[in-house]
Amino acid sequence: MSDGRVANPDGMTEKCGVVGVSLRDRAAARPLYYSLYALQHRGQESAGIITHDGFQQHSHVEMGLVGDAFDQSDVEDLNGAAGIGHVRYPTAGSVDSSCAQPFSVSFKSGSLGLSHNGNLVNADEIRDELAGMGHAFTSDGDTEVIAHDLARNLLDEDLVRAVKRTMGRIHGSYSLTIMHDDTVLGVRDPEGNRPLCIGELEDGYILASESAAIDTLDGELVRDVKPGELVVLHEDGTGFDTYQLFDRDDTAHCFFEHVYFARPDSVIDDKLVYEVRRELGRQLWEESGVESDVVMPVPDSGRAFASGYAEAAQEEGEDLEFAEGLMKNRYVGRTFIMPTQDERERAVRLKLNPIKSTIEGKTVTIIDDSIVRGTTSTQLIQLLKDVGAEEVHVRIGAPQIIAPCYMGIDMATREELIASDRSTEEIRDEIQADSLSYLSIDAVAEALAASRGDLCLGCVTGEYPYDIEGEDTDRDVTRPVIDDISQPADD
Ligand code: SF4
Repeated sequence: MSDGRVANPDGMTEKCGVVGVSLRDRAAARPLYYSLYALQHRGQESAGIITHDGFQQHSHVEMGLVGDAFDQSDVEDLNGAAGIGHVRYPTAGSVDSSCAQPFSVSFKSGSLGLSHNGNLVNADEIRDELAGMGHAFTSDGDTEVIAHDLARNLLDEDLVRAVKRTMGRIHGSYSLTIMHDDTVLGVRDPEGNRPLCIGELEDGYILASESAAIDTLDGELVRDVKPGELVVLHEDGTGFDTYQLFDRDDTAHCFFEHVYFARPDSVIDDKLVYEVRRELGRQLWEESGVESDVVMPVPDSGRAFASGYAEAAQEEGEDLEFAEGLMKNRYVGRTFIMPTQDERERAVRLKLNPIKSTIEGKTVTIIDDSIVRGTTSTQLIQLLKDVGAEEVHVRIGAPQIIAPCYMGIDMATREELIASDRSTEEIRDEIQADSLSYLSIDAVAEALAASRGDLCLGCVTGEYPYDIEGEDTDRDVTRPVIDDISQPADD
């Protein structure tokens, strides 16, 4: 960026968080607002809520963090006991308010609101077809494509069949909360790539990307929405109906949700994220433990890995100290202003500061969740050596990222990924570590108690669970043919 504003030089960014509630006789806006706070880590670019009071929709969608996007009166003006919300970091579509969500559209038989987490890989084909039929699009985002397709299907079909028909046409990753008039529903794509769960509140039900949002409202997690399932919340907040619209043999859960994106206190697909990360840390010790004086996490997500790693080492009698040797500045946002290259190279100092006494004169193992471009790792190792580390060993709680993500994670291009064309030894040499090891794919599958075939491993194998132009697939999958809009959905 020309003004010296640089994006987080390393790392990955989750794209979105979605939520929907249907309550008995309380306004939905405030619980939605608190839920969005709980999901803020999933998107910081824009925040929005749409409610419905039984007669009309009310909407407030703004750029910025939840706390900046809403003031007291904005929340109070959102009438109605049903609503959906969204926090967004853009994936498909440009970075402006035209792509902020929830997306809303009015059509002949009512109103629709949509919140989307994920990314479609055939949105352009559907947009072209719908545009040819006279649909006017106001953004280049894929959520508007889903909204128009669903609105069109709702002209001919009931809600469930209309959703099924749209799901039969869109291809890619999606967890959606949808509001059709005052009915709130949730859908997870047939591969279950992104998370979505159902919770019970004192006076209604909630659908949310992560269970941490349910906890925030003192609710109880009921269960995950199943891949290919549609959940329709009752308008009176008394329960929900479910429809298994698609049933695939294999799923494609994004394993990075557990490794990095989700909050450690969330339960996703029946597993507490914190426990999975600790188990990944234990596996890391089993596979590539290295003798050192101290093991320390790269905060924040490295913390649970490092504690599992240290625990496994100590169980084997190793004299390995677990220490928090790197302090994170929590107030550094996603981008920061650094006019010169020299300053940019020192960006890590802005985010992380070492505690010298835990490092000086010691052999140190640092545990991180991933290496994307390698920039941060290089700077961090230099920093640790500058404050007196004798040796710096690096252990990564995930396999090498060799290929980009097309399913809604802002990662990097293939050319930017340090592991796309280098061996582990070449990367070790480049980042100047004394040793470097990654976790194996099998260890990840074991920690998640899943088979490889039930996970999306696209970014670590280069083979994807969806039919993506120019890329290989890891299963028998083809994108839908987009010329059958006149065909009714099967029962
Ligand atoms: S490619 Fe990687 S980051 Fe993207 S969905 Fe698959 S596992 Fe997750």
